[in-house]
Amino acid sequence: MKLKIYSALFFTLLLVSCGTSKKTSNSAKIPDDKLVMAVAWYQHSAEMAALYYQGFNIASQRLDEAVALNKAGKSLAVVVDIDETMLDNSPFETALMNNANFSEGWNDWTNKAEAKALPGALEFANYAKSKKVDVFYITNRNDSERKPTLLNLQKVGFPFSTDDHLLTRSDPSASTGNTSSKAGRRAKVAEKHEIILLIGDNLNDFSEMFEDRKTNGGKLAVDRNREDFGRKFIVLPNPMYGAWEKPLYDYREGLSEKEKTQLLRGKLKGE
Ligand SMILES: [Mg+2]
Repeated sequence: MKLKIYSALFFTLLLVSCGTSKKTSNSAKIPDDKLVMAVAWYQHSAEMAALYYQGFNIASQRLDEAVALNKAGKSLAVVVDIDETMLDNSPFETALMNNANFSEGWNDWTNKAEAKALPGALEFANYAKSKKVDVFYITNRNDSERKPTLLNLQKVGFPFSTDDHLLTRSDPSASTGNTSSKAGRRAKVAEKHEIILLIGDNLNDFSEMFEDRKTNGGKLAVDRNREDFGRKFIVLPNPMYGAWEKPLYDYREGLSEKEKTQLLRGKLKGE
């Protein structure tokens, strides 16, 4: 019994001392536990790489099928998102946690044009090109980020990294009035191409029918369209951020990381 009490005391002291030293050495850093786990998984788990390979493997199979069926010789296209679909921006998430000196935040990161390709992304895009299927990049990066975004895609070696295959957030074709919606830009691509596949880490990358998350966090729309996943829609994993967070924050803007964490905890299922 005594041993148990001493052990418990020892571990408590150990935890307190670890906590204190961490606090001291990282005093400038923003405590953000929810991001630590998500970024660690994204950067270090082999499962993450396996899921990306799985997604792009399925995408390649679907592409083969569509090409084989294209007897009429229509112009085919794949629509891909960029962030956390083709390019890995997780170092920016680390910088956020470490309170790195980014005066313009996200733009400082994209201006570097240093994001790396995600597992299987480059191979898939090159495979599409070899099968004469165009790849269109539809991203919610802003127009002001076009130049470094193209540069980044080119540096990594992505095919179709040209002005006419990149559709940024404020593209005039986004006529729905909602600049974050990709519906207008998908319609623009569909004017001259048949979109055979869409690949993304966010449901909004696929269809406007997923944009409303008010019913059960968007799961109802997912249930209704379950047949399309792995067929027309290829979903890649992103536990770090996304539109899925919004209903959990009750659609409130400008919350601190602490407030967000509290809201997330309050919505967890189980005792
Ligand atoms: Mg994305």
